[in-house]
Amino acid sequence: MSGQLLIIEDNAANFYMMRFLLEHGGFTVMGAETGKKGIDAALRCRPRAILLDIQLPEMDGYAVAEELQRHPELARIPIIAVTSYAMVGDRERILAAGATGYIEKPINPDTFVAEIIQYLSNDRECDKEKQL
Ligand code: MN
Repeated sequence: MSGQLLIIEDNAANFYMMRFLLEHGGFTVMGAETGKKGIDAALRCRPRAILLDIQLPEMDGYAVAEELQRHPELARIPIIAVTSYAMVGDRERILAAGATGYIEKPINPDTFVAEIIQYLSNDRECDKEKQL
């Protein structure tokens, strides 16, 4: 699987771990450490998918997901929330804000790339259905 992914994540260790795994999985990875920079990068580069941390400075992941949905040209890019939040309701809240999927930290290196690919595959399936 290939394509460019955008990771919006303020924790350097988490970012490097995800980038390492995804690059080994064949993806190209770009990063942004704030929501604002991430939205700018998405508008500029149109990544195949956006991996979005929820706990971010200034603008949290919920606000970032909602803002991304306001741009028609970005609305179909899958957003995969990656977060250590484990409170009841968070999953529903981020999905309601526009995320396609949800991966919990700590990241499992053995399954992380496969989980991302699964969300991308689902997206392609939906594209096919819409064309019928
Ligand atoms: Mn964070």
